[in-house]
Amino acid sequence: MQSTTASSQAEPVSSMTIGVVGAGLIGRAWAIVFARAGFSVSVYDINADALKNAGEAIRQSLMDLQQAGLVAGVDHVMKHIRFDADLTSAMQGVGYVQECGPENVEGKRAIYLELEAAVSDETILASSTSGIAASLFSDHLQHPQRCLVAHPVNPPYLIPLVEVVPTPATSEAATATTLKLMEAAHQAPILVHKEIEGFVLNRLQGALLNEALRLFRDGYVSAEDLDKTVKYGLGLRWSFMGPFETIDLNAPAGVVDYANRYGPLYHKVDQQRGDENPWDEATLNALDKERRTLLPSTDLSARHEWRDRRLMALMAHQRSMTE
Ligand code: NAD
Repeated sequence: MQSTTASSQAEPVSSMTIGVVGAGLIGRAWAIVFARAGFSVSVYDINADALKNAGEAIRQSLMDLQQAGLVAGVDHVMKHIRFDADLTSAMQGVGYVQECGPENVEGKRAIYLELEAAVSDETILASSTSGIAASLFSDHLQHPQRCLVAHPVNPPYLIPLVEVVPTPATSEAATATTLKLMEAAHQAPILVHKEIEGFVLNRLQGALLNEALRLFRDGYVSAEDLDKTVKYGLGLRWSFMGPFETIDLNAPAGVVDYANRYGPLYHKVDQQRGDENPWDEATLNALDKERRTLLPSTDLSARHEWRDRRLMALMAHQRSMTE
């Protein structure tokens, strides 16, 4: 089985030019990731206005990052990024494309056909898709072996995880090169060995959200206290280690010792869950009522900015620590 660090088949990535297709929220963020790491980035969007606005939006994000000490110079990063409204010239000489078009299979199928005509046969075509298996929009191509998913977490210039998900047709070389490129861009790639809806991160997030909604719906806890449980409990450890390492360290003799002590409890709880959909209207209305009392709609956008500043401070702190 291929490992995340296997790179024997990988192409050299240091001089690769990166193409970004789609200059929306995620495309702009990827441009920052690659340009910040010194790669030349060529950004294309089918919508001229989106392309025109992208430069200013990227500059604003870079200024915020500079203020948090996370990039050295805004102009230095900006000069690695060019914007091109013509797909063929934008993709000229590009070795890796990060596709950031809309999240639907038909749209992505059309983009991939256009892309295949604009790039060389070896150019890797990686999709940012949040949950669609890449085989669904690459099986009609002449060279599907260079297609895969590289799923970021928003915004990828602050949250480094990238889920690399090959299709059954993806070559080992394309996967290895993508993993190597992500490391060179200072991201933290993981390899998902087989295609699965939602990949790994959103399946884990979904498991927690489903249970959180059930506990809230059934009156065991308020929304505020549920959030506190993660904020002051689980989340503190999770910001620097994962759940498997957590349980390995939570019993004197490690993971099996932990499982012997607490496994029966978790298994019993799992069986109690049932399969009733907790995303029902009444539950969501009750949740919204409590959330809007805690945070009125008029304060949402200020709170978004607060979240991004907190995230930047956390990343700056993590960078200053040696592991
Ligand atoms: P967005 O709507 O902000 O941007 C999409 C961009 O694609 C738009 O600028 C649009 O003009 C452009 N576009 C549409 N058709 C195109 C075409 N044929 N060729 C080139 N460009 C085209 O969307 P987004 O939030 O940036 O999402 C992009 C992708 O990233 C989606 O697949 C999404 O699932 C994924 N993603 C999003 C998030 C998130 O939090 N927003 C997180 C991870 C992954």
